[in-house]
Amino acid sequence: MHITGVQIGYYFHCKRQLWLFAHSLQMEQENENVKIGKVISDDSYSRKKHEIDIESELENIGIKVDFFDKQTNTIHEIKKTDSFEIAHKWQLLYYMYILKQHGVNGVKGVLDYPRMKKKVEVELTDELERELYNIISNINQVTSNPVPLSVEEAKVKINVCKKCSYYELCYS
Ligand code: SF4
Repeated sequence: MHITGVQIGYYFHCKRQLWLFAHSLQMEQENENVKIGKVISDDSYSRKKHEIDIESELENIGIKVDFFDKQTNTIHEIKKTDSFEIAHKWQLLYYMYILKQHGVNGVKGVLDYPRMKKKVEVELTDELERELYNIISNINQVTSNPVPLSVEEAKVKINVCKKCSYYELCYS
């Protein structure tokens, strides 16, 4: 099954969310947090985006990243807060892994948190690559289930759920 970077993020965030998203219940365009994140992303890199066309750079590989700096061979993922840094890290590692699979070696990764003035460098080591392989296998397991986990089984804190685009679906 085709995996996306978003699915990698949801795997760490909530496995019920992962299932709903993978089964085309995509409500992200409705979610205010996603919109805010998009605005931050656009503001932070608007000048550079005019210089480098990310879409054409990576579309033949079939992945979409926030910003790819050709000069430093670095993928930048831009996030609002670091509250889910673990998910952000694995999403970025996944992009690096996919690029490597397509023969693009030596790519570096940086998580950018402009509002926090924080940057985190990410490196795809052999060990992390093996872990990633297991994560991908687990994602396939979750998404191939005929039904999602229940809200109770997902065990996500209510304050996290309240920011999720599936909140009304899960709690109505
Ligand atoms: S509302 Fe909570 S349980 Fe439902 S998909 Fe979102 S994070 Fe998971």
